[in-house]
Amino acid sequence: MTAFVFPPPTPASVAVAGSDQRFPVHRIYCIGLNYADHVREFGRDPDRSPPVFFMKPADAVVDSGVAVPYPPATDNFHYEIELVVALARGGRNIAAQDALGLVFGYAAGNDLTRRDLQKVAKERGEPWDTSKGFDFSAPVAAIRPASAGHVSRGRIWLSVNGTVRQESDVSRMIWDVPQIIAALSRLYELRTGDLIFTGTPSGIGALKPGDVLEGGIEGLEVLRNTIAPPAPG
Ligand code: MN
Repeated sequence: MTAFVFPPPTPASVAVAGSDQRFPVHRIYCIGLNYADHVREFGRDPDRSPPVFFMKPADAVVDSGVAVPYPPATDNFHYEIELVVALARGGRNIAAQDALGLVFGYAAGNDLTRRDLQKVAKERGEPWDTSKGFDFSAPVAAIRPASAGHVSRGRIWLSVNGTVRQESDVSRMIWDVPQIIAALSRLYELRTGDLIFTGTPSGIGALKPGDVLEGGIEGLEVLRNTIAPPAPG
């Protein structure tokens, strides 16, 4: 048995719908600019801006029902509702037609973003890490196992304080789930426990402490979080 210099942290994990067991998170991959209307709201041409990949730390996950503290170092903190794919198995160089065989299940997630830091990073050609990969930046609702069906279409929506701000259909993704898994597996060896955020539709906007967020994807568990005041200190 390996001896550690201090106890290793408990693995980050996500709830599983209809189960007491939890899904242990290995990595969180994200795809950006994967709905044409969102690419346009960013001022880009979807035919000339292919989707991009970035990552969040595994321990950025937050359960539904948990209050998310307003993060430090931002005055423009944004929501992004997304379909999240959870992998039961991994691999390298996976063909798109084999990709759905790796999927454990699907969930609604929120790719929380410090938009002001992202804007500066884009202007300077710098990495997106500080704008995307911060603490509490990845709320994920309970995962619905793929035994209940794969998700290739269905309403995706997010409301703030009861007003719908984002509304689209998962079928409008530029790269669908099999294409995303195939592309990622050419960059990384995918592993059991990986989560993939698949991009957000248009309607992104800013949050403030006290806001109540609800978001979902047709047939999946609804994701509910409130925004709490900044953590003290
Ligand atoms: Mn996103």
